[in-house]
Amino acid sequence: MEKRIYDENGLLVVKENYCCEHFEPDDGALVPMKECWCCKWSNFRTENRNGTSETLSVCNYVGNTNVAVNK
Ligand code: SF4
Repeated sequence: MEKRIYDENGLLVVKENYCCEHFEPDDGALVPMKECWCCKWSNFRTENRNGTSETLSVCNYVGNTNVAVNK
């Protein structure tokens, strides 16, 4: 991914089709592909999308936070 972007809580902002080495499939994903959308650390499936075309979420994996990366 280009430049890393973090939200106000220091969580990495991710696109649906991004993936990193910490990927872990989410139980709720019917066809788990190696993408953030199917990863248990993202909020893609729990966020209320409000019908927008926004395709960003955050990664809750502690190793990807702003603090962890910039140590
Ligand atoms: S949600 Fe986070 S841990 Fe999961 S693949 Fe994306 S960047 Fe990696």
